[in-house]
Amino acid sequence: MTRQQDAAHDEQAALAAGRAAGYCWQLNPEGRGRCTRSPGHDDDHVDYYNGRQSDTDVEGYRWPQS
Ligand SMILES: [Zn+2]
Repeated sequence: MTRQQDAAHDEQAALAAGRAAGYCWQLNPEGRGRCTRSPGHDDDHVDYYNGRQSDTDVEGYRWPQS
């Protein structure tokens, strides 16, 4: 297995683990956080835990579905 296949396999495993926990878990394209909305959601991906500017923010990073 090449290093690249290993990385792809790791990402598949990470996605499966996140989805098992009830998250969409799509990796942010800039590598900052993962989507914590429900699997199969509509609209943008959102990480509700990472990227918040303050404690009162309700969401952090947001990025469009590709
Ligand atoms: Zn998502």
